[in-house]
Amino acid sequence: MRVAIASGKGGTGKTTVAVSLALSLAEYHPLLLDCDVEEPNAALFLRPVFTARHEVGQWVPAVDPAVCTGCGRCAEVCEYHAITVVGKKVFIFPELCHGCGSCSRQCPVGALHEELDVVGSLDQGQADQITFFQGTLDVGEAMAVPVIRQLKQWGLQSNVDQAQPVILDAPPGASCPVVETLRGADAVLLVTEPTPFGLHDLRVAVEVVREMGAARGKSLPVAVVVNRDGAGDDGVDAFCTAENIPILMRIPLERGIAEGIAQGRTLIEIYPEYRAQFDRLWQELVALQ
Ligand code: SF4
Ligand code: SF4
Repeated sequence: MRVAIASGKGGTGKTTVAVSLALSLAEYHPLLLDCDVEEPNAALFLRPVFTARHEVGQWVPAVDPAVCTGCGRCAEVCEYHAITVVGKKVFIFPELCHGCGSCSRQCPVGALHEELDVVGSLDQGQADQITFFQGTLDVGEAMAVPVIRQLKQWGLQSNVDQAQPVILDAPPGASCPVVETLRGADAVLLVTEPTPFGLHDLRVAVEVVREMGAARGKSLPVAVVVNRDGAGDDGVDAFCTAENIPILMRIPLERGIAEGIAQGRTLIEIYPEYRAQFDRLWQELVALQ
């Protein structure tokens, strides 16, 4: 079972939930993938021993000026405006390239070949019974999606047992990196705060989840965790009731929790009784399928 932990915005406690859930399921040897590649921080809490690393990137075209005739065919076929020809000179913009390879295939004289444009790295590690993977987008790089895609390809290779819990810690927001993380998930757990801002971002995130369900022709189960419960109003509760979205856990606004997390401790290290709650939450997510 693959569950993505997401939130409409950063700082809602998404990683706290993801890591605590993984720790509470340790006896089932879970897989945790930190897909928040712009700011991966699950490892700060999990403290895995890293065992493998490799660079990750995207294949982008490179031109051989001695062969190029300046015909402009490559620029014509690029849907993403990542390649342009001015005069007889070819200009390539790797940050716009989607690596589709059309330009290389369409070049009539074979003047284009593909080179790997490194945009980040992937790490694999082990934290006791938890197998951990994380992706890191290099500073200044904009393309998170290829890093997430390759992180999932690598990390999910070992997920041959359907019973193994797989937890995907998604980037915050509701844009393409989130969609890429949620792709292939069996359920989505949205972490939010009971405030008007939290409600706004929750609405957007629920919309994305439902659109993804519609696109695959089968609804994608979604549930909510309310973090910092007691901080705001009942808008999130009312929304979830109206939309028939179960709230599976409430984590209270409490100084002891905030201080513990700031010190790099997980929720179940701060309050071990949460282990049983996360275990129950997982069973409820499984039942939503
Ligand atoms: S299609 Fe090939 S030959 Fe034509 S401009 Fe592009 S690289 Fe040069
Ligand atoms: S590989 Fe695809 S996206 Fe990239 S420059 Fe070529 S045609 Fe454009």
